[in-house]
Amino acid sequence: MTATAPSGESLWSRCGGCAALLYRKRLRRNLDVCPECGLHARLAAPERVSQLADPGSFRPLPEHAVEVDPIGFVDVLPYSHRLAAARADTGLAEAVLCGTATIGGSRCALAVMDFRFLGGSLGCAVGELITRTAEQALELDIALVLVTASGGARMQEGALSLMQMATVSQAMAALREVGLLTVSVLTDPTYGGVAASFATSADLVLAESGTRMGFAGPRVIRQVTGRNLPEGFQTAEFLLRHGQVDMVVPRHALRARLATLLAATRRRATNRPGATAPPPEASRPMPTSRTPVRDAWETVRLARHPGRPTTLDYLETTFDGFTELHGDRLGGDCPAVVGGLARLDGRHLMVIGHQKGHTTAELAARNFGMATPAGHRKALRLMRLAARLGLPVVTLVDTPGADPGVEAEEHGQAAAIAENILTLSVLPTPVVTVVIGEGGSGGALALAVADRVLMLQHAVYSVISPEGCAAILWPGRTAAPQAARALRLTAPDLCRLGVVDEVVPEPDGSAADDPEATARTVRQALLANLLPLLDVPTVTLVQRRRRRFRRFGAARAGVRAGAR
Ligand SMILES: [Zn+2]
Repeated sequence: MTATAPSGESLWSRCGGCAALLYRKRLRRNLDVCPECGLHARLAAPERVSQLADPGSFRPLPEHAVEVDPIGFVDVLPYSHRLAAARADTGLAEAVLCGTATIGGSRCALAVMDFRFLGGSLGCAVGELITRTAEQALELDIALVLVTASGGARMQEGALSLMQMATVSQAMAALREVGLLTVSVLTDPTYGGVAASFATSADLVLAESGTRMGFAGPRVIRQVTGRNLPEGFQTAEFLLRHGQVDMVVPRHALRARLATLLAATRRRATNRPGATAPPPEASRPMPTSRTPVRDAWETVRLARHPGRPTTLDYLETTFDGFTELHGDRLGGDCPAVVGGLARLDGRHLMVIGHQKGHTTAELAARNFGMATPAGHRKALRLMRLAARLGLPVVTLVDTPGADPGVEAEEHGQAAAIAENILTLSVLPTPVVTVVIGEGGSGGALALAVADRVLMLQHAVYSVISPEGCAAILWPGRTAAPQAARALRLTAPDLCRLGVVDEVVPEPDGSAADDPEATARTVRQALLANLLPLLDVPTVTLVQRRRRRFRRFGAARAGVRAGAR
């Protein structure tokens, strides 16, 4: 059963759930829910808007996205061709439709994702549009409603798509600060970077009946764990049972439910301080780097080398007096994340990092540096503690990605990552990140929303592993080296894109060949970047950090008025 209505559509359509032959008009009247089996078919964004908004109340954002291809990505097809095809197929400029509307008489800002458009993937333009919608909510003093449908970050835009999780999160944080309600409505499917940011960091999270939501998709979890998935895994009912959504709502009740929630939380005009839009974008030249160029795939192998110094190694060498702190205070202590108090050149700070290991036994004991939700929540606890104590935070990133296991999903991996990203984006203390090995997608970003992001010369930072990207976009399994090149995941590339501020040089060969020299260089780089931040007033610091992550939307997307 398809939700779209191309011109010349047939009068009948077959349900994807029960195969019943259905009269299309009747189906449409039933909001594209099969009257026989109750299957909720995917909706195009315009249809969703017309189902939710009061008739005639939707006003689209004045801007539309234009051409976006920040890293010139090519797999078997150039990204620009895929974009053009998606636009032609959907009639939309991007994978989200944004504006303001009233729902049951309450005005709100509304962003509705469209899965038909490149799997609803989160790229720079989508991030920019949702951020602007959140800014509209702030400006107009109204609630924000997000309807999500996405496979995750848009890998064709590399690490810049990953940055959108932070861009949108800092805009959501601004609404949280002034007490404006945010509501996310999860629809089928919501995964990856969208699940691990704004979909789950909203005040209220509703799941439409039939929704599946998670950080890792079922196929990936099955591949990684070799386990069969429990019955009903990641379904709306599973999410409700595991405390991850407020309610499951059938489509026909969604509008009324939203109307009730918006009306109940409608603000009195008098009970908040004057809201202001964030300051205009600072134009900032892109940093450049003269680091010698190595093949991206070669760099991936160096970044994963078991001889590379780990977080605990740096805590021994670069820092002094490390006192490890354990536990998330909610029942877990993840071995893949270590953190605690330490000194750097006599200054006290909080250090938090992913821990891998040098031997197979160490790696297994540390879950290969893949943090569970407990690991993310431990990191969150330590970040907040640092801010309370007035200590700067240094994070060391070295993870293939967040733990993609069954328990991780049961314990809310997506929401745990989302909360870290949002909290870091406004944490009132200096934060410096060093990507020391692998920076794998949302799991890396959960520790990397920082004032300064440094990266070792042979580290990598990516929205998806080259193997994962190759498996999705290339035929055959041998294309990982090509994917590594296309993803722009090396330190010099990311420096050019502004994702990373500085490349920390490694000794001849790589960090694995001379850990002591690397430790000294990291120490110098940390001091050079951290010390200037200590004099910046907290308010300015947070403002600048937000602007740093805000500009990945606007600067990259080339979003302007009137296009398309
Ligand atoms: Zn059916």
